[in-house]
Amino acid sequence: MPASGRLGSCYVRVLVLGSGGREHAIARALHRDPSVTALHCAPGNPGTAEIADNHALDPTDPTAVVELAGRLRAGLVVIGPEAPLVAGVADALRTAGIPCFGPDREAARIEGSKAFAKEVMAAAGVPTAAARVCESTDQAAAALDEFGPPYVVKDDGLAAGKGVVVTEDRTAALDHAAACERVVIEDYLDGPEVSLFALCDGQDAVPLMPAQDFKRAYDDDAGPNTGGMGAYTPLPWIPEGLVDEVMAKVVQPTVDELRRRETPYVGVLYAGLALTSKGVRVVEFNARFGDPETQVVLDRLATPLGGLLQACALGGLARGTRLSWHAGAAVTVVIAAENYPAAPVKGDVIMGLDEAAKVPGAYVLHAGTRREADRLVASGGRVLNVVGTGSDLAEARAAAYEAAEKIELRGSHHRSDIALRAAQR
Ligand code: AMP
Repeated sequence: MPASGRLGSCYVRVLVLGSGGREHAIARALHRDPSVTALHCAPGNPGTAEIADNHALDPTDPTAVVELAGRLRAGLVVIGPEAPLVAGVADALRTAGIPCFGPDREAARIEGSKAFAKEVMAAAGVPTAAARVCESTDQAAAALDEFGPPYVVKDDGLAAGKGVVVTEDRTAALDHAAACERVVIEDYLDGPEVSLFALCDGQDAVPLMPAQDFKRAYDDDAGPNTGGMGAYTPLPWIPEGLVDEVMAKVVQPTVDELRRRETPYVGVLYAGLALTSKGVRVVEFNARFGDPETQVVLDRLATPLGGLLQACALGGLARGTRLSWHAGAAVTVVIAAENYPAAPVKGDVIMGLDEAAKVPGAYVLHAGTRREADRLVASGGRVLNVVGTGSDLAEARAAAYEAAEKIELRGSHHRSDIALRAAQR
């Protein structure tokens, strides 16, 4: 097999939907691809504005997205966040004949409904935690007692990574179940977690490099769950052959099952995995790139991203395609606003970006920022992603933290232990 096969056509005009750090990372990778002749983001952020044309638009409005993509003569639309998928934006684009990287609404239910994901996994024979779908407090109580502590209770709907409660406290578990219309209660999975993204064209799939993220707000995994406080790649501690095993046991069977159901999966299938004492298990699926793992994974990708995503959108991903990767490591540290995740403080001025960008091996992605006249201000919970790169994780960490220290934002916080243990190995 050639290094990357023939991936997409030579030139493509691309529109990226979304406005976070993930979308800035995607735009940055597309910007490096010489076959991407025009790069647009909607709505984008002040970071994407430096490398692409931003368009003010609601990315969950299918009619508006189709209209803009048509006007821009986009040959590829890349959907970053889950909300446009759930809103049927991919369906609308495909109906209009515009190639789109991102699953249709029905296939995106693999993320949108935990019960649906469990059903697909059962049909495909994918290893995951045993689970019960509960629609009443009585059912929930019975399921909690069946599995025992620690209790895992998941809101069946989309909750931006915040609908899952893992607790030893039966009352807290039951309270969460009572607060949701429908929950999935499942067996507790022990062991470290790995995120693996696979690019899918409806039939075949190609894995990216595995990464690990840090979901808790504070050091040593203390504090509340967040959208993600940092990530790194590569993972020096995973068993050899893990990626091949996950492709064979998890990703390809899931892609095959969705195709069998006539809802072919086009886009990135994000497998959140637990490496348990009994083997690898799926914790969850997401229907889009993970944030902030994408920021480190795409940093390492040497194969041009545009042609790759276009091949997925057009259904032409060659089976056995191998991607090429830069050697070394990448670490990203999320700079979060004061009081994130509870009630992030917005509107404060951000300084020090130029100094951070001068740190060798480091750069800054925008996640929740806005321009106000000539000032840059915080506009979201996760404000910036500082990325450090180097020949190994220790060097990448050092670059990321040196740059993070240059950022000034009143009350902001970040974890100091991203990739620490992996770097010490
Ligand atoms: P999810 O939204 O399903 O990814 O869940 C969010 C987080 O909750 C995961 O990253 C895990 O840390 C934790 N979690 C979810 N399911 C389980 C489980 N079955 N056992 C242990 N932890 C879990």
